[in-house]
Amino acid sequence: MQAYTSATRKLKRRLGQVVDASRAGRWAASFDSSKISFLPAAVIIPRQEADIGVVLELANRHRVPVTVRGRGTTLMGSAAPVNGGWVIDMLRLNKISIDADAGMVHAQAGATTGDIQRAAAVEGWFYPPDPSSKEYCTIGGNIACNAGGMHGGKYGVTRDFIIALRGFLPTGGFVEWGTATKKFAAGFNLRDLWIGSEGMLGIVTGAVLKLVPQPAARWTLLTSFNDEAAALTAAKVLFRARVQPAICEFLDRESVLCAERATGKTVFPGQSGRPVILLELAGSKGELKEVEREVLAWAKQHTLAFKVARSRAQVEELWAVRRKCSGAMFELGDAKLNEDIVVPMRNYEKFARFLAQLKRSSKLPIPTFGHLADGNLHVNIMYHRANRAETKAAEHAVQKLMETVVSLGGAISGEHGIGLAKTPFLRIQHRPAQVKAMQAVKHALDPRGICNPGKMFGVVRIWKYPKLQIKLPWDHK
Ligand SMILES: Cc1cc2nc3c(=O)[nH]c(=O)nc-3n(C[C@H](O)[C@H](O)[C@H](O)COP(=O)(O)OP(=O)(O)OC[C@H]3O[C@@H](n4cnc5c(N)ncnc54)[C@H](O)[C@@H]3O)c2cc1C
Repeated sequence: MQAYTSATRKLKRRLGQVVDASRAGRWAASFDSSKISFLPAAVIIPRQEADIGVVLELANRHRVPVTVRGRGTTLMGSAAPVNGGWVIDMLRLNKISIDADAGMVHAQAGATTGDIQRAAAVEGWFYPPDPSSKEYCTIGGNIACNAGGMHGGKYGVTRDFIIALRGFLPTGGFVEWGTATKKFAAGFNLRDLWIGSEGMLGIVTGAVLKLVPQPAARWTLLTSFNDEAAALTAAKVLFRARVQPAICEFLDRESVLCAERATGKTVFPGQSGRPVILLELAGSKGELKEVEREVLAWAKQHTLAFKVARSRAQVEELWAVRRKCSGAMFELGDAKLNEDIVVPMRNYEKFARFLAQLKRSSKLPIPTFGHLADGNLHVNIMYHRANRAETKAAEHAVQKLMETVVSLGGAISGEHGIGLAKTPFLRIQHRPAQVKAMQAVKHALDPRGICNPGKMFGVVRIWKYPKLQIKLPWDHK
């Protein structure tokens, strides 16, 4: 990896202490949650937003690759500095202030999603996008990946809550896309171009986010079904009745069995390993009363069994199945291809049939769970790294999965983005003209290819790279 010694010396002269070229500092910034590691030449931990302009100006002059890092929770390798160079760590830029009258948050990019939600709640407001990593991940990372979470079906994803962004173009110019107003029609909408651009079209330093009123009440119901197709069909019946659950989480049989092994409890006694749907309604007490009645009538008619939570403790009990399933999957294999695909609702049953067939033909466990109100399913292809036949079967299965999802009108990623991990499949989703248009935008904004090079467009099979054997704070226990 190139050392960029003279450029790093100049950077230290300009920014001093915020530049860390120690071995330990560089190592800590060399990987993200994909756990593949590429050592950068230095890490910059800015104290003020203007530092980032200085970094980019020098990076352009000396052609140093720059990778910006929120907290490194991405599973896609998108924050791994694959070409070395400099990493900008947004850790210290984490101020949050709430405009309680306007229902907006002003947040610096390094603020965590969990802190933003708590600050909003104090003022009676709610910020709905809630990646499961929210206690660690940053709003900058959420914007760069267009992160989602369980609330997506009712409320939307990060994109739906962005009012304005500010930050630096790859060439170092400071820009503000929009202002703190709910309407803005002045010029091209380059704000939306930044959302989901994975740190390749600029660096976000701050955002204005929209809030919605905090729901006064929540109501939780766990339901079970004969098989996956029955669960998916039943969910559609509910949506057709115009019920909009805040959360509608599906777990297939294999996921439920994983959770049951982890908790040592059967979710519904006498019905081990039945697929389930966990529903949560949110709203005012009055609104909920009416919808609860409708959902209970649906449950009586369309489910095998159901349980309503009557207390906070029971809510936690019902949630255990969802919280425990992911970690427990590692009993089925020491490697996981975790694919956050999206399937259009009209093709849910076709997808269920395809998945059953994929499990049979690959002979691999593929526990699948996800958000039914927006079709974003997490398909987890489990295998053992040391077993060549299983590794080959997993590679084949992921290719087949991506081709099928696109042929059903879906998407290869609903919330994680492309990074390195999804590069082999980008061209299944996008026609050559589309990829060319994206590359033209990249070139127009970043003519020297400074910002997060090596991502998105090249083909990298990251499962072939050696993985660090480390435990991260957000790894499942
Ligand atoms: C246990 C676990 C659960 C997860 N659950 C979910 C989930 O439910 N939903 C979901 O959507 N994702 C989920 N994720 C994925 C991940 O947490 C999200 O993609 C998150 O948005 C990444 O945020 P981060 O701050 O860690 O960014 P990083 O991982 O540091 O970076 C991700 C990308 O964003 C870019 N980036 C970061 N900050 C900036 C910035 N300020 N300006 C420009 N680019 C920037 C990076 O260069 C990189 O390309 C999960 C991950 C884990 C480990």
